Order: sequence, then structure tokens, then C-alpha cells
Amino acid sequence: MQRGDGRRFFSTAQYYRPVTLARDGAYFEPTSVVHAKEMGTPLTACGLRADSWFKFWDEPFDTNSHEKCLDCMKRLDELRRDDRS
Ligand SMILES: [Zn+2]
Repeated sequence: MQRGDGRRFFSTAQYYRPVTLARDGAYFEPTSVVHAKEMGTPLTACGLRADSWFKFWDEPFDTNSHEKCLDCMKRLDELRRDDRS
């Protein structure tokens, strides 16, 4: 696992809906703001409790195309800066 590139943060959202695809079955997409979350903590990068939220394990926060939490983005920027110094 690399440090500082933000890839260890996956996406999580409080609200989501199932999207059904003809061939691939169903998956979920967020219908509320997406936050960044690290494995092994109940908190998002911006400090919210996300225990009961839906976890998009396969979606890195960085590349998520849905509306993202500004505080989480700022926090990840800070972490990247810290890693460089
Ligand atoms: Zn957030």
C-alpha cells in the first residue's frame, strides 16, 4: 500500500440507490454527497461517523465522479502535503 496518494481512501455515502444492469446484476450508487473513508475507522476523513453508511469499497474517493465532500477533499490534500514534507 502506498502512502500519500489517497488511494487508501474509499468512498462512502449516507444515502444510495440500487442501479440494475441487465447483464451485471445490481450495484449501488450514492444519492448523497460522497465522503472519503479509511479502512479500520468509523469516521470519514472530515470526522463524521459513518458506521451505518454505505461503503463503496471498490470506488477510490479520488476517482469518484459523484458530488464529493469538500472537507474530505481538503483533508486528503493535507495528508498528501504532510507525506511530501
Ligand atoms: Zn466528508
